[in-house]
Amino acid sequence: MPFSSLQNDILLPRHLTTWQWLFESKTFSPLHRFPENELGGYTNAITKEKLNWREVKETATFVSTALVNTYGLKEGDTVALFSQNTIWYPVAMHATLRVGGRVSGASPAYNVDEMTYALKTGDAKFLMTHPDSMEVATAAAKNAGIPKENLFLLEGELDGYTTIKELVEMGRKESQQAPTFQIPRSKTNKDVCGFLSFSSGTTGLPKAVMIAHQNVIAQCLQVYPITPSDLKKVLAVLPSFHITGLVHALHLPALLNAEVIMLPSFTMKSMLDTVVEYQIRELLLVPPILIRLVRDPIVNDYDLSFLRRFSSGAAPLSKEILQLLQDKFPQTGFKQGYGMTESCSCITAHPPSHYDYKYAHAVGTIVASTTVKIMKEDGTEAGVGEPGEILAKGPQIVMGYLNNEKATKESFDEDGYLHTGDEGRIDEEGLITITDRIKEMIKVKGIGVAPAELEDLLLGHGKVEDVAVLGIPDEYSGEIPKAYIVLKANQPPSQEVGRELIAYVREKKVRYKAVKEVEFIDAIPKSASGKILRRLLRDKSRSGEHGL
Ligand code: AMP
Repeated sequence: MPFSSLQNDILLPRHLTTWQWLFESKTFSPLHRFPENELGGYTNAITKEKLNWREVKETATFVSTALVNTYGLKEGDTVALFSQNTIWYPVAMHATLRVGGRVSGASPAYNVDEMTYALKTGDAKFLMTHPDSMEVATAAAKNAGIPKENLFLLEGELDGYTTIKELVEMGRKESQQAPTFQIPRSKTNKDVCGFLSFSSGTTGLPKAVMIAHQNVIAQCLQVYPITPSDLKKVLAVLPSFHITGLVHALHLPALLNAEVIMLPSFTMKSMLDTVVEYQIRELLLVPPILIRLVRDPIVNDYDLSFLRRFSSGAAPLSKEILQLLQDKFPQTGFKQGYGMTESCSCITAHPPSHYDYKYAHAVGTIVASTTVKIMKEDGTEAGVGEPGEILAKGPQIVMGYLNNEKATKESFDEDGYLHTGDEGRIDEEGLITITDRIKEMIKVKGIGVAPAELEDLLLGHGKVEDVAVLGIPDEYSGEIPKAYIVLKANQPPSQEVGRELIAYVREKKVRYKAVKEVEFIDAIPKSASGKILRRLLRDKSRSGEHGL
């Protein structure tokens, strides 16, 4: 029997887009529920530039009209957002969604090849970026066939490029605004993709995950009842392109009428300065930042006694760090969320009754309207306390992978269950604990890295015959990629070749994908069908056994 949520089911609007739901619906829109002069919104932590929800709605309406009337954006077109956090990110996002487009997020650290892949895989027609990312954006747009006039700036100014503020003014001048996209009668908001986010899922290369309007609405309604009512200020330090940022910084705060403080780029100092300046009481962070909070001496320069709660997600956090966190900040509670891009963020989360370090080993209980099956290796369902692979079903489970039927079929069952590739168990109280990750994905600082992508790259190196990449534990990043390499017959292994291969990956890939360790072995263990037996390598690496 699958395990059910202990929460009341959510009531889902089935024909509203996220735009209609947040900005037009009489029932849900914060614009209708909260007094005009008390509206939350977005603040840039550094420049202090602000937009409240009414201004987000107004500017997004103008931008969408300019995109449709002047640049020919059509329903279903993808707009790629390639930028650090900015208060104009939600404007660009809502503008796209308002007229039936799809938003695709990409890490601002991507290089030209990675961004080209993201644009092509997501079928992007437009690209909005930041001056710091313009060089990469221009080259990638050219590779992906996006004309220069479809490249816009979310911040700042650069000769020859239209800025989002100019789009606002273009739209404002129109006598009539472009009509709001309506979901066709024959469909529901479950069938219309609004967002594309990249994930490698349980296996293979990064794929564009199709997230429906309903998935985002459902996730907000699932998390809202277990969100504390005192959450009035949200620090957006996690990137907007990741599913956690998309839900917890770009949508959920509207329901809470919270003020979202956007931190453009992370340093411990800028984060701590912002937290103190805005007296932010709850911090949603990923494990590597929580680790720095207990280890980095800079923290001792700040009075953080106002902090009430830490919220963690995206990767596991060790018992030792949890203990250090509790010792250093004894006044705080703790919660976490567990899920993946394919579950539009949370499958489980701690409810307020469990905001306590004594439950911190677990990732919370099943969120509303969701069922979980835990499958043992023998293919039968696990009972309470027994470990197995976690499968989840609910309205937040996404539509599948864009243009990739095969991967979709492998990850999503016919009866609607998503295979998470995570191993865990559930206890008598309904708390789920993650015990292992059985899928290929490596989590570096909470961001997913696909071993297949690094293996493909290394196979292209003249000295490499075969390769397998695996995540190994790292105190700061959680995990880091390690490459097991079989060299070509005439190539003797040496430290120098190891360094050469590490440099090769560093040159070709964004920093967080960097291979930090190389081990030369005689053969990559493989199954009869040629699949890398990662478990064997992992056991070898855990036992501390090394090759050369
Ligand atoms: P992503 O799609 O980048 O969000 O990655 C999803 C994966 O991150 C999950 O399948 C887990 O392996 C891992 N993950 C997410 N949240 C947690 C958590 N709270 N604890 C442990 N692992 C997590």
